[in-house]
Amino acid sequence: MNRFYTYFGQGKHRSMELKKTAGRPRIVIIGGGFAGINLAKKLKDKPVDVLLLDKHNYHTFQPLLYQVAMGQIEADSIAFPLRRIFTSQKNFNFYLADVQKINAEKNTLTANIGDIEYDYLVIATGANTNFFGNQQIAHYTMPMKNIGEALNIRSFMLQNFEKAVITNDPAEKAALLNFVVVGGGPTGVELSGALAEMRNLVLDKDYPTLSKDDMHVYLVEGKPVVLGAMSAASADAAKKALTNMGVEIRNSAHVQSYDGQELRIDDGTVIKTRNVFWAAGVMGEVPDGLPTESIFRGNRILTDDISRVTGYQNVFAIGDVAAMVTPETPNGIPGMAQGAIQTGQHLAKNLLHLINGENTEPFKYYDKGSLATIGQYKAVADIWKLHFHGYPAWFLWMFVHLMSLVGFSNKLSVLASWAVKYFTQNTDNRLIVRFFNAETRMAEPETK
Ligand SMILES: Cc1cc2nc3c(=O)[nH]c(=O)nc-3n(C[C@H](O)[C@H](O)[C@H](O)COP(=O)(O)OP(=O)(O)OC[C@H]3O[C@@H](n4cnc5c(N)ncnc54)[C@H](O)[C@@H]3O)c2cc1C
Repeated sequence: MNRFYTYFGQGKHRSMELKKTAGRPRIVIIGGGFAGINLAKKLKDKPVDVLLLDKHNYHTFQPLLYQVAMGQIEADSIAFPLRRIFTSQKNFNFYLADVQKINAEKNTLTANIGDIEYDYLVIATGANTNFFGNQQIAHYTMPMKNIGEALNIRSFMLQNFEKAVITNDPAEKAALLNFVVVGGGPTGVELSGALAEMRNLVLDKDYPTLSKDDMHVYLVEGKPVVLGAMSAASADAAKKALTNMGVEIRNSAHVQSYDGQELRIDDGTVIKTRNVFWAAGVMGEVPDGLPTESIFRGNRILTDDISRVTGYQNVFAIGDVAAMVTPETPNGIPGMAQGAIQTGQHLAKNLLHLINGENTEPFKYYDKGSLATIGQYKAVADIWKLHFHGYPAWFLWMFVHLMSLVGFSNKLSVLASWAVKYFTQNTDNRLIVRFFNAETRMAEPETK
């Protein structure tokens, strides 16, 4: 196979040789999330060439994005350079590339840097926000799937606090200080809990002319409970904790529209607000080129029990973008870090089996349980058949998240921020470093 790929840079067209060892199969992985990096790590020292492609040059630890959005920790502390993760892996190479299309009939893919050939392709592109086709909601609400979006939320929230300080119009002030989180899954619960902490612990310290009573946090969820995927005990404990913190929960309620000024809910409620954060759904981030037969519910790529994409021999999908539909997992594996880590690690074994002409081993998901935090000292945990909340769940949540962060310096930085928050009941990262434009819904570069 020709092991050259074409590079289209700054209008020029040139060829570059890809780092390779002659005769070794090339495994190309799209996406350096939990799934992609765990697959690549397991291929260390194996007789294959690994090429990782990602549109970012870093891995993001998404479970702590909400703390970045709320100014509790630094953005850099939840990201880690992909090249740095693999400095000691000789069969590894990385290219900063945005993959646009898969050309499976030619064993190539098309990216913004050119066409790249593969022997085995693994799609690990994760998930993106699902606005369920509503363009207005997509434009005006704020998603939180990556560091840029978390920083947009941080800037916008702080900008609106600053505006609330100086406005003389009570209706405008109320709208600036009404915060609505849509979606009562773990992300929505964590974000609304952190907003309530912002009101309860920070607002009148930083903005003495504003009162806690001026700020309202709403959580809107379509199901009759929050944290519907967790046990009834955990869902109940989370609801009580949020309510005690002052979050106004609207269950069995669906957002109908939001025009940047008014949010309309199907129970007839209208909330005047400038701040709507969308955590109500995800969909697979699938590059073009796969037929509709390979796509499952939630825009996920349908695979068999070895992560092989339906209809292909040498194309695989793992992590959030995949729907491994088997009799044991009729809806696919849950879109959580563990599903991505485990499918990534397992696929490494099976790729080596396939390359060696051996039998493959079907994947079995090991459910390690679920955790969600609501605020300081408050979290819920479902571990095996145990359901607990409060301090023990909070400590477990902190331990698991700290251990899962990539990079020793990141663990230290997050631990230091948490310690500061614990002892001072305050945080230090409330900077508006990129102004978020409410009309264009884009971050603007800093002016002098
Ligand atoms: C706010 C939030 C909170 C969460 N909290 C938890 C939690 O508490 N516990 C838990 O278990 N899970 C949590 N999750 C889910 C968890 O983060 C995901 O299940 C996990 O990250 C999935 O890993 P992945 O490798 O499949 O995808 P991702 O981690 O999303 O990685 C995908 C990678 O692919 C890259 N990519 C995408 N498209 C392209 C392209 N076209 N070209 C090149 N590169 C591309 C992206 O840049 C990214 O690096 C949370 C998710 C979010 C968003």
